[in-house]
Amino acid sequence: MSIPEIPAVSLSALCKTYPHSEDPVEVLKGVELELAEGDTAAVLGPSGSGKSTLLALLGGLDRPTSGQISLLGEDLVRMSEPGLASFRARNLGIVFQQFHLMSHMTALENVALPLEIARDPRAWEKARKGLSDVGLSHRENHVPAELSGGESQRVAIARALVAEPRILLADEPSGNLDVHTGRQVMELLFRLVRERRATLLLVTHNPEFSAQCGRRFNLEDGRLGNA
Ligand code: ADP
Ligand code: MG
Repeated sequence: MSIPEIPAVSLSALCKTYPHSEDPVEVLKGVELELAEGDTAAVLGPSGSGKSTLLALLGGLDRPTSGQISLLGEDLVRMSEPGLASFRARNLGIVFQQFHLMSHMTALENVALPLEIARDPRAWEKARKGLSDVGLSHRENHVPAELSGGESQRVAIARALVAEPRILLADEPSGNLDVHTGRQVMELLFRLVRERRATLLLVTHNPEFSAQCGRRFNLEDGRLGNA
């Protein structure tokens, strides 16, 4: 008898409404999704359709109005804030369009941060390896203002992957980069995800990048459909 696999991502009847005294914004209206471990999935959809909202819920950065979110068999909706923080630190990597690096920290310190928070005794060694994996060993001691957009996003990718998360969430990671740099950054991201056999959920407008994902979904009118 085979043991049924626990899905990496399982969303059911997921709804999110942003409250407002006159005009509450109903963004997600019953999202269903199931991804197996190692799946790579692209989420497409017009601006304002709720892609970032969906990723924020998956990343435990915001709470749904109703519905279920299960990641690696754990129920995110019922987790306490400290529980969520700990789950995120152990299992999730998140990459944003705007990089969101700590501006006063060097590239190396940015990459080491999640490991330092987790009190990993090998934080600095692993952070050096992480920066080397994205080709930035020569930028260890530079702060974000001294880095190009592409370099900044590579640091952010190194930071997202340094603790070896099983799920990577990426919200238009090439959205702030020129075509050539965006392509280089995405090639790197896909290679690292493949090597680690991580599950990827990628929000992108770019058909070239969505084509490299094993599965494609469209977010439209608050629901996910096959693209
Ligand atoms: P996308 O990433 O697909 O462009 P978003 O998830 O950022 O879309 O936004 C979806 C909708 O929700 C938009 O109409 C946006 O204005 C609204 N929205 C996003 N965040 C908030 C918020 N914190 N409060 C109120 N409305 C929000
Ligand atoms: Mg967005």
